Amino acid sequence: VTALDPSLEMPWLADTRAALLRAHGAGRLAGGLLLHGAAGVGADWLARWIAARLFCRTVAAGQAPCLRCIDCRRCFEGAHPDLHIVELLESGREGRLAKEIKVDQVRELAAELALTSHGGFSKVAIFTPADRMNVNAANALLKTLEEPTPGALLVLIAAEPARLPATVRSRCTRLGIRTPPREAALAWLVARGVGVDVAGAVLAASAGQPLAALEAAAGSTARIAAEVAAALERFAGGEGEDPAVLGESWSDDAYGLRLRAIENWLTDRARRWAEAAGGSSELRRAAHLQAGRPALNIRRTFELLDAVRDARALEETPVNRPVTLERILRLLAAAGGRAAA
Ligand SMILES: [Zn+2]
Repeated sequence: VTALDPSLEMPWLADTRAALLRAHGAGRLAGGLLLHGAAGVGADWLARWIAARLFCRTVAAGQAPCLRCIDCRRCFEGAHPDLHIVELLESGREGRLAKEIKVDQVRELAAELALTSHGGFSKVAIFTPADRMNVNAANALLKTLEEPTPGALLVLIAAEPARLPATVRSRCTRLGIRTPPREAALAWLVARGVGVDVAGAVLAASAGQPLAALEAAAGSTARIAAEVAAALERFAGGEGEDPAVLGESWSDDAYGLRLRAIENWLTDRARRWAEAAGGSSELRRAAHLQAGRPALNIRRTFELLDAVRDARALEETPVNRPVTLERILRLLAAAGGRAAA
């Protein structure tokens, strides 16, 4: 799931979406629109949704875009011929982004808008983040706002609209996107598969912005999974840390996530075994073949998987987490490396 997945449901955008549909229905969706909100709250998503509303092939009057047709999908991919996105460009070194949107980018856009629309209808330009335009770029944009191309909608996304010149702001219809309350954001993250133990931390680290938190969670999930896998490899190789110490430290840092990571690691082992053996019916023989090698014994792997699944079933109950983890790590140490039987 990325922040620009068209199927992402964000209930806190519902009011703004309804307001936009009303404005469109009344023919007021033209000229400049200033979305006051951060990308992490869904401002970029909403800007593309607006473009999709204008370009959707199947949409009925007053309705939301279908988000499934080719035009809708292209809007979210940033690949629609009538949608222009003016953003921070890569500045050459290591894919880093430029600090500002520059005047050439805005001039290029103005020239594009002057050309006939591909579909014969409207054009949309999204400026994101608009509050990172330099002075010359903002002045060029002001000219475009003062002499609007018929059928062109300019969507400015700004987390800090005060950084835009007042002359630009005054020429735009302003719509605010509210950051959802913490409880709603947490529930939303958990519904998207983020562990309860991780959701609170990533949301706090993302200034309460749910989309930013979702991306951070994906990052921290990957980091913890890699950390767990590396530790388990060491255990399987007979070089693990002290199970009691590691169990203690893992028990109060993303416990549920770590259990899932252990289960994934073991499942992956079992699957590779099955593949090497040419099918699950050959598991026994594979176990026999592998027995002399410094790797996990397949029977022990399944015992371990059972232990991890038992622990996961009790995840929400007041089990003794350090002891549970220690037991699993000891089983693993016994199953791996020199202890393989
Ligand atoms: Zn559509």
